[in-house]
Amino acid sequence: MSFYNLYSAYNWDEVAACIQTKTEADVRVAIAKDKPGLEDFMALVSPAADALLEEMARKSYALTRQKFGKVMQLYIPLYLSNFCENRCVYCGFSNSNRLRRKVLLLDELEQEVSIIRQQPFKHILLVTGEAPVKAGTDYFIAVINQLKSSFSQISLEVQPLSTTEYELLVKQGLYGVYVYQETYNERRYSNYHPAGRKADFRYRLETPDRLGAAGVRKIGIGNLIGLEEWRTEAWFTALHLHYLRKKYWRSKYSISFPRLRPFTGEGFQPNYETTERNLTQLICAYRIFDHEVDLSLSTRERPMYRDNVMSLGITAMSAGSKTGPGGYSNGEALEQFAVNDNRSADMVADVIRCKGYEPVWKDWSMFLQMA
Ligand code: SF4
Repeated sequence: MSFYNLYSAYNWDEVAACIQTKTEADVRVAIAKDKPGLEDFMALVSPAADALLEEMARKSYALTRQKFGKVMQLYIPLYLSNFCENRCVYCGFSNSNRLRRKVLLLDELEQEVSIIRQQPFKHILLVTGEAPVKAGTDYFIAVINQLKSSFSQISLEVQPLSTTEYELLVKQGLYGVYVYQETYNERRYSNYHPAGRKADFRYRLETPDRLGAAGVRKIGIGNLIGLEEWRTEAWFTALHLHYLRKKYWRSKYSISFPRLRPFTGEGFQPNYETTERNLTQLICAYRIFDHEVDLSLSTRERPMYRDNVMSLGITAMSAGSKTGPGGYSNGEALEQFAVNDNRSADMVADVIRCKGYEPVWKDWSMFLQMA
């Protein structure tokens, strides 16, 4: 029994239609509840909730202060490789895209890390395309072992692996894994993922089950905002989170909000516009639904939006990011997507302090344990 079994009991169109029927009264009920359920979440992401966004923001702000205090985790991505065997129509690393490919050798990794080490980051997110022959488990083990002494938390955003491989990586010191379903609309999934291992919707959907079974401490999920209608995507993501929390209760969870950004390549444009106001509704809805989930906002968003929304529910932000292998040491344009917030980590940390928050350079819960 995996999440796929539960997922299959729901119909995308029925969920989408149900969300549309929710009224302002339903939204008020959901906001007032201590523990809103999945039916309430439909109201929170419905069109009717737009009129109550201020109330949602107030509740989300209060819950975040209560559960997390006034801290903001900061992390930095390190791209190890842009080789990819998949064809995703929205991504600069897609194997159909003509791009110079590179996987960092261990001495090149050291050059990247020597630059990152000049900043106070202790949480690093290692990112690759999905090409196991170029960057597989053995490579990840070597990289983790090289970085262990410099970073207290090492997370991965790479191709889905087996439970055994995750177990092996946890033993080496792996902290978290982020794996996004991109879209929970199985019927249309193949439109975006026509070739490669990623074309297997079910294998990807069951990856968080394998992570939970392997004892990965933190599991990040989410969907790529802009592929499909965002309200329905959000509900299936909430269903996934709810399922994982109950089944793999030892792990911590995170939701990210990657919105489609311009990239070098096939010129795919988002099918469904999701405005910043919509994104704010989404952030508040997740916080009201799940008081403890980490909500992470990347440099895909513009600086002013990140600054304004950070206190409404966000608990983690990337900063100073480069999105291609070798990006920190040689600045070569091998990037996956165009970053929207190009400020340095110091500048972002200053803004966080100005807003009365404390920048935390590793996971906040570990910070509190060690404080
Ligand atoms: S989204 Fe991931 S799997 Fe798809 S082409 Fe980009 S790097 Fe490869």
